[in-house]
Amino acid sequence: FFIALEGGDGAGKSTQVDVLAEWIRAKGHEVVVTKEPGATPVGKRLRSILLDVSESGLSHRSEALLYAADRAEHVDTVVRPALERGAIVISDRYIDSSVAYQGAGRDLSPTEIARISRWATGGLVPHLTVLLDVSPETARERFTEAPDRLESESAEFHDKVRSGFLTMAAADPARYLVVDASQTPDAITTVVRHRLDQVLPL
Ligand code: C5P
Repeated sequence: FFIALEGGDGAGKSTQVDVLAEWIRAKGHEVVVTKEPGATPVGKRLRSILLDVSESGLSHRSEALLYAADRAEHVDTVVRPALERGAIVISDRYIDSSVAYQGAGRDLSPTEIARISRWATGGLVPHLTVLLDVSPETARERFTEAPDRLESESAEFHDKVRSGFLTMAAADPARYLVVDASQTPDAITTVVRHRLDQVLPL
């Protein structure tokens, strides 16, 4: 069973990934917690290229392809092997981050970005995608130390990313759970657990 957590910077994804993993483990399942970009040795190098270069150093198309390369490596060496042995995989970001950031955010075609990712992953789609939805303003207020990305990109960019996520969620409600991430972490966990109780073979 494959779960992806998605959302903008500062939505609280990594906190939820850890709490949910502990909860599922306590039920006796193997859980693999992973993330994009940078879950593999090659991915770590790609992550440093993606996040360390200045904006002018990377064209939008090459950025999109490097994220896709990171994802291909991630799926081949981490996600698929774990799913094949029956583990529950929770990934902090997956394809929809590319559709939102490189597609909607960078004004590349979301459809083409989705197509590149489909090819990169051999068509592996999560069983459940949890979107932690929060306005960039709220994310910035909530985190005293806001992620660099909230600062370095324009408000317009973050708004486009957010709408990109919401558009995907609206188009595929069976796969998506949209959670208002301006709530407390405990309240968010309760909503996600409720959905997992319904869909997970626990
Ligand atoms: O989720 P995490 O903070 O590790 O992601 C690192 C940065 O990469 C984030 O600030 C996010 O804005 C950016 N990112 C991106 N496109 C993706 C995935 C992440 O721009 N597809």
